[in-house]
Amino acid sequence: MNDFIFKENELYCEDVPVEQIASEVGTPFYLYSLATLGRHFSVFNESSKVLNSLICYSVKANSNIAVLNFLFKMGWGADIVSGGELFRALKAGVDAHKVVYSGVGKTEGEIEFALKSDILMFNVESLPEVFLIDKVAGRLNAKARVSFRINPNVDPKTHPYISTGLKKNKFGINIKHALSAYETAGELSNIDVVGLDCHIGSQLTEIAPFNDAVEIIKELLDKITAKGFNIKYLDLGGGLGITYENEMPPHPSTYMNSIKKILKGYEGRIIFEPGRLIVGNAGIFVTKVIYNKDTGSKNFIIVDGGMNDLIRPALYEAYHEIVPVIKRDGPRAKSDVVGPICESADFLGKDRVMNSVQEGDLLAVFSAGAYGFSMSSNYNSRPRVAEVLVDKDKFYIIRIRETYDDLIAKETIPDYNYNIT
Ligand SMILES: *Cc1c(COP(=O)(O)O)cnc(C)c1O
Repeated sequence: MNDFIFKENELYCEDVPVEQIASEVGTPFYLYSLATLGRHFSVFNESSKVLNSLICYSVKANSNIAVLNFLFKMGWGADIVSGGELFRALKAGVDAHKVVYSGVGKTEGEIEFALKSDILMFNVESLPEVFLIDKVAGRLNAKARVSFRINPNVDPKTHPYISTGLKKNKFGINIKHALSAYETAGELSNIDVVGLDCHIGSQLTEIAPFNDAVEIIKELLDKITAKGFNIKYLDLGGGLGITYENEMPPHPSTYMNSIKKILKGYEGRIIFEPGRLIVGNAGIFVTKVIYNKDTGSKNFIIVDGGMNDLIRPALYEAYHEIVPVIKRDGPRAKSDVVGPICESADFLGKDRVMNSVQEGDLLAVFSAGAYGFSMSSNYNSRPRVAEVLVDKDKFYIIRIRETYDDLIAKETIPDYNYNIT
């Protein structure tokens, strides 16, 4: 089932023609389908019922408060990686007792904010971090619930930039130092050790690396438990991949069932932090053709959306399917689809064979709901684009397009007194 579908020759999101939205909000923009989002929620949620689980959606994948609010209303919590994400999650109505806080560089201010909000737990990534959390908690007269993020040194077989569970990565605590980290934290008076955490990477398309990691974590869990720690939460992170081109990632229920087998006998709560899987294919990026440019050696389709709007192709050489919103007949040609940014990495797709497109045509860039808008920037002084959410035959602008005034709103020209000598 798909909610981005062609009727006749025209792309719809649910019951709304994409072209109609473009004519009202302009281009480029992100477009999300509530039906797809709801279906992805349900599949993951149902699959997780074979376990005693808590699902904490990974806010960084798509942080729009409308998207967050939908998932929180359904009962999910949040996996956050910054004070800004905590702020967003709270504004979107999260239950703070369902918030877990990951990330290698939590600052004192962020730790204080999280403690005052009484989040469920910190996923601690180093010993200096647990010492700082202990200090801040002491000052606030609070007790901080923590788990350690363990780096199990398994290869997730994904792009190197989204691998996080290899010993060369900056993430987590080396598995060899895990036991002593627990013992050290156990001595701290403002720390309550409640969990064990691991997240090995993103866009995993095989089940084996997950299984390897969970086996390693289970072994460690038994050792920690034997030392007298009560591990009430076992956080297994996110990372399940999606289909961008022809990947065949495991179904969530396959994943959950194999975890259930490995963790047989564990009675605590299992936390999952899915991101991409929930929102990735619930969104597209819509951009307009500005020029067709033939350099003599290559055809370029130059569009009004660029790497500042959708950085995945430039950053990871990621593939996104690109199709015209209105299909035309006509000769097929091979082209690079590129943005207006002054960087050679500014492309959305390379060597794409498509029916010829004309200036003014709309292109849909698929699978753009995760790490799309949330990774966008103002580079080249481009206002960030609009985000639109469709529900059946209605659409809602859930983030208005930035203006030129927004670009300089926080800037000032100082009244300095400098003379050229
Ligand atoms: C990014 C991230 C996730 C989500 O990863 P997906 O691949 O989008 O599911 C979960 N947990 C942590 C700690 C992360 O950094």
